[in-house]
Amino acid sequence: YTGKDCSILLSDCPVNANSYAKNPIIGSIVSTRRPFVLRAFLDATSREQRGSGLGMAQDELYLSRWDIYVGSAETVIRKLHSVVGNAVTDNRFVIFGSGSTQLLAAAVHALSLTNSSSSGPARLLASVPYYAMYKEQAEFFDSVHLKFEGDAFAWKNSERNDNTTQVIEVVTSPNNPDGKLKRAVLDGPNVKTIHDYAYYWPYFSPITVPADEDLSLFSLSKTTGHAGSRFGWGLVKDKTVYENMKRYITLSSMGVSRTTQLHVLQLLNVVVRDGGDNIFHFGHETLKKRWETLNKVLSLSTRFSLQKIKPEYCNYFKKVRDFTPSYAWVKCERPGDANCYEIFREAKITGRDGKVFGSEESFVRLSLIRSQDDFDHLIDMLKKLVLQEGVEA
Ligand code: PMP
Repeated sequence: YTGKDCSILLSDCPVNANSYAKNPIIGSIVSTRRPFVLRAFLDATSREQRGSGLGMAQDELYLSRWDIYVGSAETVIRKLHSVVGNAVTDNRFVIFGSGSTQLLAAAVHALSLTNSSSSGPARLLASVPYYAMYKEQAEFFDSVHLKFEGDAFAWKNSERNDNTTQVIEVVTSPNNPDGKLKRAVLDGPNVKTIHDYAYYWPYFSPITVPADEDLSLFSLSKTTGHAGSRFGWGLVKDKTVYENMKRYITLSSMGVSRTTQLHVLQLLNVVVRDGGDNIFHFGHETLKKRWETLNKVLSLSTRFSLQKIKPEYCNYFKKVRDFTPSYAWVKCERPGDANCYEIFREAKITGRDGKVFGSEESFVRLSLIRSQDDFDHLIDMLKKLVLQEGVEA
């Protein structure tokens, strides 16, 4: 092989069958007669990330077990989107990140670099209620190129909106915390958008159209539930934006763990094998039941209300269906219940304060995607809280 220490930086080495056989680590994999591991490893690593040094005939990689075809993580991601119908992947670069959290930072970085306006740093916006991470990251990284500016609607109608300042709007659809399908609030030549599609899966929402945006982010956390594996991906139209995101990811973590990529490849291969039938039906049915239970309990209450979203036609299930979001966005309706989070906390229910999402204290977010035990427990506590209303009245 050509110079690099491949025993350390396996995935960064230009590879061919011989170099792998000579490599002390991969060589031992080969010699233990598990070459399919090597094959899977090579495949799991996206072609981009394997490096352009791969100037060799594909079949040199197949050391043996020629019959085992696994495909690459990138290929299976494209397949997954085509099976679910939730995103267009043609003419898009696919980029991996350690969770969509890292990709979000990379995307904000890449888009703030395109700022050619003289009106100061690019402004990051999202319509209220928004996922808190956007604000927290921007404030923590404290870049000279970027400032978090809050609510996109407030900006649209404000005097500061001069239509030249570069703005980046994050559109979360379905939204965290309220599960609604969101659209961009801002447009114009000075506006860039990041579409966070973490929840755009049939478990949570009707799949109404395939996402066809400039920059879309997805997360394994909400696709198969493997949040701890820290894997997300982005679909990026513009080559320069993609290159700048890639640079961010290389400099912050030298790419995504190849072991994780292999894990993703195996997981998603199982998901797509039956067109997603098994996992999406199971997940949707589970959430549907949970929403039925939750609605039943809260229908007895005048003190608390839930978000309402009109059913829509789902191209995946081929029928009109309800939204079954991952979170309940609860409103405390009594004027005396100013701090909804505290009301729930006193009832031994830990949610997230509406204020965290740029919204009001009269809201609290409850998670419905924890274990069945957790959910059952939540329902028991909620029943007690709702029954108190009768006693107090
Ligand atoms: N976007 C949204 C809207 C989320 O709710 C989450 C997870 N809570 C993420 C992104 C982060 O996902 P990941 O685990 O891939 O970093």
